Amino acid sequence: MIGFLLLLLALRPALQICRIAQNRGWHVLLALILFFICGYLAFAYQVYRTANSAPLVLGLSVILMLGAVFVIVVVKLSRSSLQLLKDVAQSERHQARHDSLTQLENRQECINHIEHCISRGQVFSVLLMDINNFKQVNDALGHFFGDKVLIAFAAKMRSFIARGGRVYRMGGDEFVVVTDAASETELFALNNGLLKTFNDGLVIEDIHVDVYYSAGARVFFPEDPPSVTELLKHADIAMYAAKHSRQSLVIFDQALHDGVEAEFALFSALKRALNANQLKVFYQPLVCGHNNEVHGLEALLRWRDMTGAFISPMTFIPIAEKNNYIKQVSAFVIEQVFADLHDFLAIEPGVTVHINLSSQDFQGRYLVNQLVELQTKYNIQPSRIVFELTESMVMLDVAQARYMIGVLIDMGFAVSIDDFGTGFSSFSMLRELPISQIKIDRSFITACLDSEKDQAIVETTIYLANRLGCSVVAEGVEDSKTAAYLNAKGCHYLQGYYISEALERDSAKQWMDSHRMVKKVLKR
Ligand code: C2E
Ligand code: MG
Ligand code: MG
Repeated sequence: MIGFLLLLLALRPALQICRIAQNRGWHVLLALILFFICGYLAFAYQVYRTANSAPLVLGLSVILMLGAVFVIVVVKLSRSSLQLLKDVAQSERHQARHDSLTQLENRQECINHIEHCISRGQVFSVLLMDINNFKQVNDALGHFFGDKVLIAFAAKMRSFIARGGRVYRMGGDEFVVVTDAASETELFALNNGLLKTFNDGLVIEDIHVDVYYSAGARVFFPEDPPSVTELLKHADIAMYAAKHSRQSLVIFDQALHDGVEAEFALFSALKRALNANQLKVFYQPLVCGHNNEVHGLEALLRWRDMTGAFISPMTFIPIAEKNNYIKQVSAFVIEQVFADLHDFLAIEPGVTVHINLSSQDFQGRYLVNQLVELQTKYNIQPSRIVFELTESMVMLDVAQARYMIGVLIDMGFAVSIDDFGTGFSSFSMLRELPISQIKIDRSFITACLDSEKDQAIVETTIYLANRLGCSVVAEGVEDSKTAAYLNAKGCHYLQGYYISEALERDSAKQWMDSHRMVKKVLKR
C-alpha cells in the first residue's frame, strides 16, 4: 500500500514532465506508472483477501515498495533536471532577444519588428536616438557609472514609450523607437514628450546627470516601401543631421539624403585627390600698411577636380573636419609650407607664412610631433610661421586650445586669430589666450567705406589690438580707397585682391620678387 501511495504521488511530476518535455517516451512512463498503480492495487487486494503472510509474499511486497520509491525518486529528479534545462533555454532565448545591460529588446528584435511592421503595410515611424554627452559622462565618471546612465535612460524611455511604441537598444548609446506616429506633427509631439521626460536629467547614486540626445526619424509609407536597412540608414542620416545642427530631432527627407550622398562623394574624392597630390597650396601675400613691403603669405588650399572645376576650401574643409580627415589635410599643408619656405626666405628674409588650423589639429600630439620633425628636416626658424586659429575652433575646448597655443608659442611659433569678430566670444579669447595677431574678418572690410558701423568695428578692433600689444591684419582689401582708409587708421597689415589673390608657389615667388623690385625703384 505504501508503494501504491508513492506511485500515486509520482503521477503529478510525471504529468508535469509530459508537459515540459513533450516526448512520447515520457507518456509511456506515465502509462506504465498507471499500470503499476493498478498492479499494486490488485496485488495488495490479493494479499489481503488470502491473508497470505508467507516470507516470499512479504519479501515481494518490500521489493514492490522499494520499486515505487525508485520510480518517485527518478520521476522527481527528472522533473527538476528538465525544469532547469527549460529555464536555461528560456533565459538564453531571452538573452538572444534582449540587451543584457538595459534589458531592452536588441537590434535583431528591432529588425524583426520593423520587418513585421513593413509587412503589415501600415504607416509607422522609426526614430533613432543617440545620447550626445554620453562620452563625456563616461570619461568624467567612469564606464561603470556610464552603464548606470544607460540603464536609467532605457528605463525612462521604456516607461514613456510604453504608451505607443517599442524601444530597442541598438548598441552603445544608440536607441530606436518604433512607433505608430504617422506624420511629422506626431513625431515632433513624441519628441516634445521625450524632451520633457529628460528635462530633469537622471539621478544616479545622488549624482545629477543631464542627458541630451539627437534623434533622426523616418516615416514609413507603404506606397513607397523602403527595406529595413534603408529605413534605419535614413533615420541614421537624419540623426547625424540633428547632431550637426544641434537639434533634438530631424525628420528624414530626400533632400537630406541627396545632401549626404553628395557629401560622401565629395569626401571620397577629397581623399583620392590628397593621395594623388591634386591638392595645391597657394599663397596670398600680406603687405605692411605703412610701407607696402611684403610681410607674409597665407597658405590657402586649392583643389581642382577631374573636370577642372574649382572646389572651394569653404566646401571641402568642413567636410574634412566632419569626417575626421582634417589632420591629414593639415599635415599636407604644413609639410608643403616647410618645403616652400626656404625659397620664400631667399627672396624676402623677413617673410612669415600663415597656416590655417582646425580644431581637430589641437587634439593629440600629432601636430607638435610633426612640427618638431619638420623643424629638424628643414631647419626653419619657427618665428617664420604663424598659425591662424578661428574662434569656433578654440571655443570647442578652451582648456585644450590654451594648452596647445602655449605649446606652439613655447616652440617659437606665432598665433593669430582669423576671422576676428564673426563669433560670439572674440573678446574672451583675447583675454584668455596669448594671441599675437588679430585678422579682422573680411565681412567688416569689404564694405567698410560705406558703412559707419563697419568702420566703428574696424577702428575699435585696431585700437583694441594696439592696447593688447597685438598686430592687426585686414583681410579682403579689394581697392585702393579701402587700403588708404585702413592705413590712415593704423592697420598694420593688409591682405586682399587689391594686393594680390592667392598664387601658386612659383607665381608667389615671382610676385614677391617683382614687388620688391618695384619697391626699390619707388624708393630711388
Ligand atoms: P580664411 O583663412 O579667412 O582665408 C581668407 C579667404 O578670403 C580665402 O578664401 C581668400 O582667397 C579669400 N580672400 C582673400 N582676399 C580676398 C578679397 O579681397 N576678397 C574676397 N572676397 N575674398 C578674399 P579661400 O581660399 O576660399 O579660403 C576660405 C577659407 O577656407 C579660409 O578662410 C580658411 O578658413 C579655409 N582654408 C583655406 N585653406 C585652408 C587650409 O589649408 N587649412 C584649413 N584648416 N583651412 C583652410
Ligand atoms: Mg586664414
Ligand atoms: Mg579669414
